[in-house]
Amino acid sequence: MLGEVIAIGDELTSGERLDTNSQWLSQRLTEQGVEVRYHTTVGDDLEANTEVFRAATARADVVVATGGLGPTADDLTREAIAAVLGVGLVRDDAALDHIRQMFHSRGRSMPERNARQADFPEGAAPIPNPSGTAPGVQAVIDRPGRGPCVLFALPGVPAEAHDMWRATVSPAVAAASPRSRVIRHRRLKCFGAGESHLEAMLPDLIRRGRDPRVGITASGATITLRITAAGPDEASAFEAMRPTLATIRQSLGELVFGEEDDELEHAVRKLLGEKGGGLATAESWSAGLVAGWLAGVGVKASSRVGGEPAFGDDEVGALAAAVRSEASADFGLAIGAPFSPPAPHGATTADASTPNAAGSVAISLVAPDAVVTKRYPLVGHPSIVKPRIAKLALNQLRLHLLNANQ
Ligand code: AMP
Ligand code: MG
Repeated sequence: MLGEVIAIGDELTSGERLDTNSQWLSQRLTEQGVEVRYHTTVGDDLEANTEVFRAATARADVVVATGGLGPTADDLTREAIAAVLGVGLVRDDAALDHIRQMFHSRGRSMPERNARQADFPEGAAPIPNPSGTAPGVQAVIDRPGRGPCVLFALPGVPAEAHDMWRATVSPAVAAASPRSRVIRHRRLKCFGAGESHLEAMLPDLIRRGRDPRVGITASGATITLRITAAGPDEASAFEAMRPTLATIRQSLGELVFGEEDDELEHAVRKLLGEKGGGLATAESWSAGLVAGWLAGVGVKASSRVGGEPAFGDDEVGALAAAVRSEASADFGLAIGAPFSPPAPHGATTADASTPNAAGSVAISLVAPDAVVTKRYPLVGHPSIVKPRIAKLALNQLRLHLLNANQ
């Protein structure tokens, strides 16, 4: 069953307010086995709203909209739905009573314009809203030659929309589903290769239309593979993913460091735990990112931030050895300062001291039985250069521990 989520309001299209309703509703619809193919956001304009509702109800079997149910002239959802259905608005007495009651309970009388909130497209049903004034709208759009589309319009206030989803919309969506079906996701976290390189290592898995579906997203050099499967219940959805998960792990080997919300520091914590080793870090340039991330997951590393910058491989190696011995730790991990090659003849000193695309950083790990120093180029957007280098350091430690533990 295909779904579409519509968010209505000028405050959303102007960027003033973030549309959180679409995210929340899509998660709920997906959990219930509805594949959400479109999100549409539209401003407070009757023609635009009518067009959006018409398109959505033609291409999706379930449509859930939020916003535009208020009492003011810019709240046009009822009118737009009536236009799509080709009917007029009729006042619902029970809904009007509820709205009056709502005001009464707050010690106020209902302003006349709030009566419009009791207007419904002919043939549509009100969706009760126990905690707010605006009832929702439920309508069925008949489509010649195929099944009907069920449309739900909820208020924009997130808390009210959530309550009404649980009480009315979710059971109605379940009843409209041809058979009970759930969709579940699993995530595998990877580090150490680019997105397209990773894709090339997974022949055929990322292909559209494959079942289970595998999606790939990158965030700050960490790559997430998202595996999606459907089934009659949660256990069968997870079972359907098993062969795909195994293929991915087999193809990517040590590029996979964790699952779900894991970060590299979780993987390092686990491996350090097995190894039981103390760690000392030296980070002048990355300003303690590695030590901070590790501290965030409960790994205490003796850390040195700042100090004389180390540039060359040997210097960075000596720094790792120094912090390791000072702290009497098993592992010393040092991130050097960016090193740029000398400027071409005739360039100014300012040019030469500016880290450029050709710059690089050395990372050195001194372990009881090995010294590993590697140099990495400084690439990527300036906002992710430091976190990426810090992740490379954690990954260097992770790979060493992984191989040492084997
Ligand atoms: P409305 O139902 O359009 O009168 O909106 C009522 C309140 O809910 C306003 O404060 C909106 O900014 C907020 N709101 C409307 N739509 C959304 C949305 N999609 N996500 C988050 N908040 C929203
Ligand atoms: Mg609005």
